[in-house]
Amino acid sequence: MATCLFTTPCLSLFQWTSPQSLVAVFKCFAAAQCLLSHDSMLDNKGINTFDFIIVGAGSAGCVLANRLSENEDWNVLLLEAGGDPPITSDIPGLQTLLYKSEYDWQYKTVNDGVTSQAIDNGQVTWTKGKLLGGSSSINALVYVTGNDHDYQRWYDAGNKEWSVDEVRRCFKKAESLQNQDMLRDPTISTRYGHNGPQTVNRFNNTYRWYTDKIIKSWSELGFKNTKDLNVENYMGAGILTATASNGVRRSTYKTYLKQAEKRSNLKIIKNALVTKVLIDANFIAYGVEVKEYGLKKTYLATREVILSAGSISSPQILMLSGVGPQEHLETHNVECFVNSPMVGQNLQDHALMPVTIYGDKPGSVTLGEFLKHITDYLLYRKGFLAQSSVVTDAGLFFSTLENASYPNSQSHVTVVNKNFPLVNLNLKGTFGYNDAVLESITDLNQKKNECAGVQ
Ligand SMILES: Cc1cc2nc3c(=O)[nH]c(=O)nc-3n(C[C@H](O)[C@H](O)[C@H](O)COP(=O)(O)OP(=O)(O)OC[C@H]3O[C@@H](n4cnc5c(N)ncnc54)[C@H](O)[C@@H]3O)c2cc1C
Repeated sequence: MATCLFTTPCLSLFQWTSPQSLVAVFKCFAAAQCLLSHDSMLDNKGINTFDFIIVGAGSAGCVLANRLSENEDWNVLLLEAGGDPPITSDIPGLQTLLYKSEYDWQYKTVNDGVTSQAIDNGQVTWTKGKLLGGSSSINALVYVTGNDHDYQRWYDAGNKEWSVDEVRRCFKKAESLQNQDMLRDPTISTRYGHNGPQTVNRFNNTYRWYTDKIIKSWSELGFKNTKDLNVENYMGAGILTATASNGVRRSTYKTYLKQAEKRSNLKIIKNALVTKVLIDANFIAYGVEVKEYGLKKTYLATREVILSAGSISSPQILMLSGVGPQEHLETHNVECFVNSPMVGQNLQDHALMPVTIYGDKPGSVTLGEFLKHITDYLLYRKGFLAQSSVVTDAGLFFSTLENASYPNSQSHVTVVNKNFPLVNLNLKGTFGYNDAVLESITDLNQKKNECAGVQ
């Protein structure tokens, strides 16, 4: 273990952490990374024409790479701008250490002078995964399958292959429900799949004493208390499920790509930035241009080029390829090949409004307790490191409209114990609060016993 402490490349992530005591704790923790398995990917199967080219090895791209390369007659190329996930990606409680790092595209919105003025420079940070697994390697791990209404809208809009039943069938095919309490309840168990690659579980640890009270208080306010939110079509309050297994993240890199990476018909290239889709005179995409370590390369596709580069990069790549609103492309000196005004439009994000609540008990986390949580994680994969550092597993889905059958709002709970060492890191790193707001929260956090952010 001592050798591991100073030889691992993953240590660099911890070196910038400011409070000295924390650095020591994290170094201990980083040393223990050797207890967790971590293989790197193969990427050198030298050909440049493929049946399919997949751009982006994120949540969607890893699934596509696995499923398409199941057909041995097809050669598949998967291109990813990022690299291997670091060990911090495996540990749910260290999620926020990945934000604003090389594993994050670090997008920022433009300050409109009106909204988000509690955030540094009025610019909201849009964290987005830049690594194998994409955002599924850095997200908050909350597994939400949505309300039937969401998919009915797809169907009604003309996507006749995606009826509610078909979407639900696909979810089940992907899932492997592992939580014993959920498995014992037939109403819950039959709602989930059992043999798919994607682990569905509950977090190994949450602030149960706390979140149970929150769920009870939601019920007192009239929201239905559900034994499983998925069973109740995401209307009401309950315990959220997670894409974690025994306290470890299960990204699509882990669940789909790793089992396919050794197939001889799948080539994976990391650190490869796709800059353009090549389109012929008949408007058929036939390849991509890529920047690999500063070198420009071209890969060709005989069947399809698939853009799965995420909600920001996919339209960006299309526009760089000359497909998008003509006027906008010309402003940026990009020759317009297909005038398609809707490319880059209709992006929707979920606005977040934090409400801070202060309570009386239980008290602050002592250094001893803090270290115990770390030991608990290393030995048993339990403790606060086994849960998302951003949210607990208490969730509420509701509508602000009367008699609605589907939600338009959701509420999550974050617990911040008194003097918790990561309070600054989380509030700054996750929410990007400016110093004035940060100080007011941390000041109260030092005086009061604990606080919970309800979003
Ligand atoms: C911080 C955070 C927390 C979240 N929490 C949750 C949650 O708890 N529950 C939930 O359901 N959802 C959550 N989400 C949302 C969820 O993770 C995303 O909706 C989902 O991962 C998007 O999948 P995707 O395949 O579309 O894109 P991504 O998973 O983002 O994948 C896109 C991939 O394409 C790569 N790429 C981009 N541009 C290029 C290029 N030019 N060349 C090559 N590769 C490129 C990227 O590096 C990335 O790997 C969260 C997201 C974030 C960022």
